Amino acid sequence: MHEASIVLGIMSIVEEEVKRLHLNKVNKITMCLGEFTCAEVQTLRDCFELVAEPTLAAEAELIIESVKATAECNRCRKVFPVKKQEMECPYCGSKTMRLKSGRELYVKSFEAD
Ligand SMILES: [Zn+2]
Repeated sequence: MHEASIVLGIMSIVEEEVKRLHLNKVNKITMCLGEFTCAEVQTLRDCFELVAEPTLAAEAELIIESVKATAECNRCRKVFPVKKQEMECPYCGSKTMRLKSGRELYVKSFEAD
């Protein structure tokens, strides 16, 4: 499952930091999740509960910040929000663009004691 591997990735980053900083308990994890990552927030939360249970993050709160997908037009350089089906510049109609955001998937911050 896609979400499970995301959560495992996040947990390994947090656990490594916790170990490096000699912390004992993770209170809160904030992650950024792009619209185009195709991950279900509820599934992520469920996976997180399972994965975090035997760890120092067992009682941690998981905050998921959604990042809207935007693209920059290669022709007119305007930036606009994109949805999966309509991949066309709303300003000039060009179909060549570069995704600027929406694939984010990372730990933004975490709080631990
Ligand atoms: Zn354009």
